[in-house]
Amino acid sequence: MTERNPYVIEGPAQICFSGGRTSGYMLHRILEANGGLPADCIVTFQNTGKEREETLSFINECSVRWGVPISWIEWDGFEQGSRSRCHIRIVDFETASRNGEPFSRLNDALGILPNPVMRTCTANLKVKAGRAFMLSRGYDEWDNVMGIRADEPRRVARLSAPGRDNGGGIPNLPLARANVRKADVLAFWRSQPFDLMLDPEGDFGNCDGCYLKARHKIVRAFMVEPERADWWINEESRPAGATFRNDRPCYSELKREALFYAKQIPFDFAEPETEEALIDCMCGD
Ligand code: SF4
Repeated sequence: MTERNPYVIEGPAQICFSGGRTSGYMLHRILEANGGLPADCIVTFQNTGKEREETLSFINECSVRWGVPISWIEWDGFEQGSRSRCHIRIVDFETASRNGEPFSRLNDALGILPNPVMRTCTANLKVKAGRAFMLSRGYDEWDNVMGIRADEPRRVARLSAPGRDNGGGIPNLPLARANVRKADVLAFWRSQPFDLMLDPEGDFGNCDGCYLKARHKIVRAFMVEPERADWWINEESRPAGATFRNDRPCYSELKREALFYAKQIPFDFAEPETEEALIDCMCGD
């Protein structure tokens, strides 16, 4: 018996586009396999306001070049008396927040910052916002089609775990089933007439200073654009002493490091990578 093409999708489904190369590749394969966007499927991008302009442009370019509508969603506060249901705003490339507004609103509403153990940003800005969007479209059950590759086994295992709460959509991981790896994704983009204008090894995707990224990568990014540190520093001042991580210096210290190293040539300090540091942050994860 031949296995069904993993990219043939049956709706209703939310096709999660994080704005990275991997989910862009997945979207392309789905459009190819289904002769366009499958019936009852919606492509979504949940904007935190901290993605880089290159990411936003890439999402817009995929949409325009491939003729596929992408719904841009922003978390916009909890519903009265609830922490599980939220309001959303529908935006587009022009109107999307670019100064971390949805993320700051969430931090205000919760009174705490996310950290590697409690990723309140992913849970709310991505997962709950995606769920609110699908519910607002009248769905009560749907698949979440996510760009998780075969070389991300911990994420595959987590999303496939029996007993997982799939209230935000049932995970469908076509790339993992098709045994797609990072090298396949990069090879695909090398053959395309456009690409995400971020270094594939630079870890500049997702939120610009995401606390899950390796410290040296954050510092390196702040060396080039120190002003990118300011939003993170400001969040750590509300309330004073709040931090995104308690196992590394606060963002004002990372900026100080960046300014210091910017004067030293060459810059040469690193800490080990983790799988988490390299992943796309998306709606059902
Ligand atoms: S990229 Fe990082 S900071 Fe942004 S939502 Fe995901 S986990 Fe949070």
